[in-house]
Amino acid sequence: MLNIAITGAGGRMGQTLTRLLADSDEAKLTVAVERRGSPHVGVDVAAFTATESNGVVVVDDIESVVEQFDILIDFSQPEATVENLSVCARHGKAMVIGTTGMNADQISQVQTASQKIPICMASNFATGVNLCFKLAEMAARALGDEVDIEISETHHRHKKDAPSGTALSLGKSVASPLDLDFDAAARFGMERQVSGRDSKTISFSSVRAGDVVGDHTVLFAAEGERIEITHKASSRAAFARGALRAAHWLNAKTPGLYDMQDVLNLK
Ligand code: NAD
Repeated sequence: MLNIAITGAGGRMGQTLTRLLADSDEAKLTVAVERRGSPHVGVDVAAFTATESNGVVVVDDIESVVEQFDILIDFSQPEATVENLSVCARHGKAMVIGTTGMNADQISQVQTASQKIPICMASNFATGVNLCFKLAEMAARALGDEVDIEISETHHRHKKDAPSGTALSLGKSVASPLDLDFDAAARFGMERQVSGRDSKTISFSSVRAGDVVGDHTVLFAAEGERIEITHKASSRAAFARGALRAAHWLNAKTPGLYDMQDVLNLK
Protein backbone atom coordinates (compact mmCIF):
# COMPACT_ATOMS: atom_id res chain seq x y z
CA MET A 1 0.00 0.00 0.00
CA LEU A 2 1.42 3.37 -1.08
CA ASN A 3 1.00 6.18 1.46
CA ILE A 4 0.23 9.44 -0.32
CA ALA A 5 0.38 13.07 0.80
CA ILE A 6 -1.45 15.78 -1.14
CA THR A 7 -0.54 19.48 -1.05
CA GLY A 8 -3.34 21.77 -2.18
CA ALA A 9 -5.67 19.19 -0.63
CA GLY A 10 -8.64 21.55 -0.42
CA GLY A 11 -8.33 22.79 -4.01
CA ARG A 12 -10.14 21.52 -7.11
CA MET A 13 -7.46 18.93 -7.95
CA GLY A 14 -6.74 18.09 -4.30
CA GLN A 15 -10.35 17.19 -3.61
CA THR A 16 -10.62 15.17 -6.85
CA LEU A 17 -7.51 13.18 -5.87
CA THR A 18 -8.86 12.67 -2.36
CA ARG A 19 -12.04 11.13 -3.80
CA LEU A 20 -10.01 8.89 -6.13
CA LEU A 21 -7.81 7.69 -3.26
CA ALA A 22 -10.88 6.89 -1.15
CA ASP A 23 -11.73 4.23 -3.80
CA SER A 24 -8.20 2.84 -4.22
CA ASP A 25 -7.05 -0.57 -2.92
CA GLU A 26 -3.38 0.14 -3.72
CA ALA A 27 -2.82 3.61 -2.30
CA LYS A 28 -4.19 5.61 0.57
CA LEU A 29 -4.21 9.24 1.57
CA THR A 30 -2.32 9.60 4.83
CA VAL A 31 -1.48 13.32 4.74
CA ALA A 32 -3.46 16.32 3.43
CA VAL A 33 -1.81 19.75 3.45
CA GLU A 34 -3.21 23.22 2.82
CA ARG A 35 -1.76 26.72 3.07
CA ARG A 36 -1.63 28.44 6.44
CA GLY A 37 -4.94 30.27 7.01
CA SER A 38 -6.94 28.12 4.60
CA PRO A 39 -10.48 27.38 5.83
CA HIS A 40 -9.76 23.71 5.04
CA VAL A 41 -7.09 23.38 7.77
CA GLY A 42 -8.44 21.20 10.58
CA VAL A 43 -11.17 19.71 8.36
CA ASP A 44 -11.49 15.91 8.10
CA VAL A 45 -10.91 14.92 4.42
CA ALA A 46 -14.02 12.75 4.67
CA ALA A 47 -15.84 16.05 4.08
CA PHE A 48 -14.43 16.00 0.50
CA THR A 49 -15.26 12.36 -0.18
CA ALA A 50 -18.59 11.93 1.59
CA THR A 51 -17.23 8.61 2.93
CA GLU A 52 -16.46 7.37 6.41
CA SER A 53 -13.56 9.13 8.14
CA ASN A 54 -10.18 7.39 8.20
CA GLY A 55 -8.89 10.04 10.57
CA VAL A 56 -6.97 12.23 8.09
CA VAL A 57 -7.35 15.90 8.95
CA VAL A 58 -5.96 18.74 6.79
CA VAL A 59 -2.77 20.24 8.29
CA ASP A 60 -0.74 23.31 7.33
CA ASP A 61 2.81 22.09 8.11
CA ILE A 62 4.14 19.32 5.88
CA GLU A 63 7.39 19.05 7.85
CA SER A 64 5.53 17.83 10.96
CA VAL A 65 3.94 14.89 9.09
CA VAL A 66 6.79 13.97 6.75
CA GLU A 67 7.23 10.49 8.26
CA GLN A 68 3.62 9.59 7.43
CA PHE A 69 3.85 9.38 3.62
CA ASP A 70 5.91 7.76 0.83
CA ILE A 71 5.12 10.15 -2.04
CA LEU A 72 3.85 13.71 -2.24
CA ILE A 73 1.41 14.71 -4.98
CA ASP A 74 1.46 18.50 -5.35
CA PHE A 75 -1.32 20.45 -7.07
CA SER A 76 -0.96 23.82 -5.35
CA GLN A 77 0.84 26.93 -6.61
CA PRO A 78 4.46 27.49 -7.69
CA GLU A 79 5.73 29.16 -4.47
CA ALA A 80 4.27 26.34 -2.39
CA THR A 81 5.62 23.68 -4.75
CA VAL A 82 9.22 24.82 -4.34
CA GLU A 83 8.86 24.93 -0.54
CA ASN A 84 7.47 21.38 -0.59
CA LEU A 85 10.28 20.38 -2.92
CA SER A 86 12.95 21.32 -0.42
CA VAL A 87 11.15 19.38 2.36
CA CYS A 88 10.89 16.28 0.11
CA ALA A 89 14.53 16.55 -1.02
CA ARG A 90 15.70 16.81 2.60
CA HIS A 91 13.68 13.77 3.67
CA GLY A 92 14.18 11.62 0.54
CA LYS A 93 10.50 11.59 -0.48
CA ALA A 94 9.47 11.21 -4.13
CA MET A 95 7.23 13.87 -5.62
CA VAL A 96 4.59 14.11 -8.34
CA ILE A 97 4.28 17.74 -9.45
CA GLY A 98 1.11 18.86 -11.24
CA THR A 99 1.34 22.58 -10.41
CA THR A 100 1.79 24.73 -13.51
CA GLY A 101 2.96 28.30 -14.12
CA MET A 102 6.45 27.86 -12.64
CA ASN A 103 9.13 30.36 -13.67
CA ALA A 104 12.64 29.43 -14.89
CA ASP A 105 14.16 29.72 -11.41
CA GLN A 106 11.47 27.47 -9.89
CA ILE A 107 11.95 24.89 -12.67
CA SER A 108 15.68 24.95 -12.07
CA GLN A 109 15.03 24.22 -8.36
CA VAL A 110 12.98 21.18 -9.47
CA GLN A 111 15.90 20.03 -11.66
CA THR A 112 18.36 20.40 -8.78
CA ALA A 113 16.11 18.50 -6.34
CA SER A 114 15.72 15.68 -8.89
CA GLN A 115 19.39 14.80 -8.33
CA LYS A 116 18.34 13.68 -4.84
CA ILE A 117 14.77 12.36 -5.27
CA PRO A 118 12.62 10.91 -8.08
CA ILE A 119 10.24 13.57 -9.45
CA CYS A 120 7.54 13.22 -12.09
CA MET A 121 6.43 16.63 -13.35
CA ALA A 122 3.85 17.10 -16.09
CA SER A 123 1.81 20.07 -17.28
CA ASN A 124 -1.02 17.60 -17.86
CA PHE A 125 -1.40 14.12 -16.38
CA ALA A 126 -4.31 13.04 -18.59
CA THR A 127 -3.37 10.02 -20.74
CA GLY A 128 -5.17 11.44 -23.79
CA VAL A 129 -3.25 14.71 -23.66
CA ASN A 130 0.05 12.87 -23.49
CA LEU A 131 -0.98 10.91 -26.55
CA CYS A 132 -1.75 14.27 -28.23
CA PHE A 133 1.81 15.47 -27.45
CA LYS A 134 3.06 12.46 -29.41
CA LEU A 135 0.54 12.91 -32.26
CA ALA A 136 1.41 16.62 -32.55
CA GLU A 137 5.11 15.77 -32.73
CA MET A 138 4.44 13.16 -35.45
CA ALA A 139 2.25 15.60 -37.41
CA ALA A 140 4.87 18.36 -37.24
CA ARG A 141 7.57 15.95 -38.43
CA ALA A 142 5.45 14.80 -41.39
CA LEU A 143 4.11 18.24 -42.37
CA GLY A 144 7.38 20.14 -42.01
CA ASP A 145 7.32 23.92 -42.31
CA GLU A 146 4.68 23.94 -45.07
CA VAL A 147 2.02 24.56 -42.42
CA ASP A 148 1.06 27.35 -40.06
CA ILE A 149 0.72 26.13 -36.48
CA GLU A 150 -1.80 27.63 -34.05
CA ILE A 151 -2.38 26.33 -30.52
CA SER A 152 -5.56 27.34 -28.75
CA GLU A 153 -6.82 26.50 -25.28
CA THR A 154 -9.90 27.19 -23.15
CA HIS A 155 -10.09 26.87 -19.36
CA HIS A 156 -12.38 27.83 -16.49
CA ARG A 157 -12.42 31.42 -15.29
CA HIS A 158 -10.34 30.69 -12.14
CA LYS A 159 -7.22 29.41 -13.92
CA LYS A 160 -4.26 31.59 -12.94
CA ASP A 161 -1.72 31.01 -15.75
CA ALA A 162 -2.08 31.63 -19.50
CA PRO A 163 -1.32 30.09 -21.89
CA SER A 164 -1.79 26.81 -20.04
CA GLY A 165 1.19 24.62 -19.22
CA THR A 166 -0.33 22.03 -21.57
CA ALA A 167 -0.47 24.51 -24.47
CA LEU A 168 3.22 25.31 -23.91
CA SER A 169 4.07 21.58 -23.82
CA LEU A 170 2.16 21.09 -27.10
CA GLY A 171 4.19 23.97 -28.57
CA LYS A 172 7.45 22.35 -27.47
CA SER A 173 6.27 19.02 -28.96
CA VAL A 174 5.93 20.63 -32.42
CA ALA A 175 8.97 22.94 -32.16
CA SER A 176 11.47 20.16 -31.65
CA PRO A 177 10.84 18.11 -34.87
CA LEU A 178 10.78 21.38 -36.86
CA ASP A 179 14.17 22.39 -35.40
CA LEU A 180 12.62 25.60 -34.06
CA ASP A 181 13.91 27.30 -30.93
CA PHE A 182 10.65 27.31 -28.93
CA ASP A 183 11.26 30.63 -27.14
CA ALA A 184 12.07 32.40 -30.42
CA ALA A 185 9.17 30.79 -32.34
CA ALA A 186 6.37 31.27 -29.79
CA ARG A 187 3.95 34.21 -30.25
CA PHE A 188 1.58 35.09 -27.41
CA GLY A 189 -1.39 37.47 -27.20
CA MET A 190 -0.82 40.86 -28.83
CA GLU A 191 2.56 39.77 -30.11
CA ARG A 192 0.82 37.54 -32.64
CA GLN A 193 1.18 38.46 -36.26
CA VAL A 194 -2.14 39.30 -37.87
CA SER A 195 -0.86 39.58 -41.42
CA GLY A 196 2.06 38.24 -43.42
CA ARG A 197 2.31 35.25 -41.12
CA ASP A 198 5.76 33.76 -40.69
CA SER A 199 5.57 29.97 -40.90
CA LYS A 200 8.50 29.71 -38.49
CA THR A 201 6.23 30.84 -35.64
CA ILE A 202 3.88 28.98 -33.30
CA SER A 203 0.94 31.14 -32.17
CA PHE A 204 -0.99 30.71 -28.93
CA SER A 205 -4.42 31.91 -27.91
CA SER A 206 -6.26 31.45 -24.60
CA VAL A 207 -9.88 31.76 -23.51
CA ARG A 208 -10.86 31.90 -19.81
CA ALA A 209 -14.57 31.29 -19.35
CA GLY A 210 -17.10 29.50 -17.17
CA ASP A 211 -16.26 26.08 -15.79
CA VAL A 212 -14.38 24.55 -18.76
CA VAL A 213 -12.06 21.85 -17.34
CA GLY A 214 -9.55 22.14 -20.22
CA ASP A 215 -9.73 22.09 -24.05
CA HIS A 216 -6.64 22.17 -26.30
CA THR A 217 -6.33 22.22 -30.09
CA VAL A 218 -3.24 22.22 -32.30
CA LEU A 219 -4.12 23.43 -35.79
CA PHE A 220 -1.82 22.65 -38.71
CA ALA A 221 -3.03 24.77 -41.66
CA ALA A 222 -1.61 24.32 -45.17
CA GLU A 223 -2.73 25.43 -48.63
CA GLY A 224 -5.89 23.43 -49.30
CA GLU A 225 -6.11 21.39 -46.09
CA ARG A 226 -6.12 21.61 -42.31
CA ILE A 227 -5.43 19.12 -39.56
CA GLU A 228 -6.64 19.64 -36.00
CA ILE A 229 -5.56 17.60 -33.00
CA THR A 230 -7.98 18.28 -30.18
CA HIS A 231 -8.27 17.07 -26.60
CA LYS A 232 -11.18 17.91 -24.30
CA ALA A 233 -11.12 17.08 -20.61
CA SER A 234 -14.63 16.65 -19.26
CA SER A 235 -13.63 16.09 -15.63
CA ARG A 236 -10.59 16.51 -13.38
CA ALA A 237 -10.66 12.75 -12.74
CA ALA A 238 -8.50 12.27 -15.88
CA PHE A 239 -5.69 14.37 -14.34
CA ALA A 240 -6.07 12.74 -10.93
CA ARG A 241 -5.94 9.19 -12.34
CA GLY A 242 -2.79 10.06 -14.31
CA ALA A 243 -1.11 11.64 -11.28
CA LEU A 244 -1.86 8.55 -9.18
CA ARG A 245 -0.53 6.28 -11.93
CA ALA A 246 2.63 8.42 -11.98
CA ALA A 247 2.96 8.05 -8.18
CA HIS A 248 2.87 4.23 -8.42
CA TRP A 249 5.37 4.26 -11.31
CA LEU A 250 7.70 6.68 -9.47
CA ASN A 251 7.77 4.56 -6.32
CA ALA A 252 10.31 2.15 -7.83
CA LYS A 253 12.48 4.79 -9.51
CA THR A 254 15.93 6.19 -8.76
CA PRO A 255 16.38 9.98 -8.43
CA GLY A 256 15.76 11.87 -11.67
CA LEU A 257 13.29 14.15 -13.42
CA TYR A 258 10.60 12.20 -15.27
CA ASP A 259 7.38 13.17 -17.04
CA MET A 260 4.13 11.51 -18.03
CA GLN A 261 5.61 10.44 -21.38
CA ASP A 262 8.06 8.30 -19.36
CA VAL A 263 5.22 6.85 -17.27
CA LEU A 264 3.23 5.95 -20.40
CA ASN A 265 6.32 4.69 -22.26
CA LEU A 266 5.69 7.14 -25.13
CA LYS A 267 9.31 8.28 -25.59
P1 NAD B 1 -7.02 25.46 -6.78
O1 NAD B 1 -6.76 26.93 -6.66
O2 NAD B 1 -8.43 24.96 -6.77
O3 NAD B 1 -6.21 24.66 -5.64
C1 NAD B 1 -4.91 24.98 -5.22
C2 NAD B 1 -4.88 24.77 -3.71
O4 NAD B 1 -3.53 24.89 -3.27
C3 NAD B 1 -5.71 25.80 -2.95
O5 NAD B 1 -6.66 25.13 -2.12
C4 NAD B 1 -4.67 26.55 -2.13
O6 NAD B 1 -5.17 26.99 -0.87
C5 NAD B 1 -3.61 25.47 -1.98
N1 NAD B 1 -2.30 25.99 -1.55
C6 NAD B 1 -1.75 27.20 -1.81
N2 NAD B 1 -0.59 27.33 -1.14
C7 NAD B 1 -0.38 26.18 -0.47
C8 NAD B 1 0.63 25.72 0.42
N3 NAD B 1 1.70 26.49 0.75
N4 NAD B 1 0.53 24.47 0.93
C9 NAD B 1 -0.53 23.68 0.63
N5 NAD B 1 -1.56 24.09 -0.17
C10 NAD B 1 -1.47 25.32 -0.72
O7 NAD B 1 -6.28 25.02 -8.13
P2 NAD B 1 -6.45 23.65 -8.95
O8 NAD B 1 -7.40 23.85 -10.06
O9 NAD B 1 -6.62 22.51 -8.02
O10 NAD B 1 -5.00 23.58 -9.63
C11 NAD B 1 -3.81 23.57 -8.85
C12 NAD B 1 -2.60 23.61 -9.76
O11 NAD B 1 -2.57 22.41 -10.56
C13 NAD B 1 -2.59 24.77 -10.77
O12 NAD B 1 -1.26 25.17 -10.98
C14 NAD B 1 -3.16 24.15 -12.03
O13 NAD B 1 -2.78 24.82 -13.22
C15 NAD B 1 -2.54 22.78 -11.95
N6 NAD B 1 -3.23 21.71 -12.69
C16 NAD B 1 -2.43 20.80 -13.29
C17 NAD B 1 -2.98 19.72 -13.93
C18 NAD B 1 -2.05 18.67 -14.51
O14 NAD B 1 -2.54 17.66 -15.04
N7 NAD B 1 -0.74 18.86 -14.39
C19 NAD B 1 -4.38 19.56 -13.98
C20 NAD B 1 -5.19 20.51 -13.35
C21 NAD B 1 -4.59 21.58 -12.68
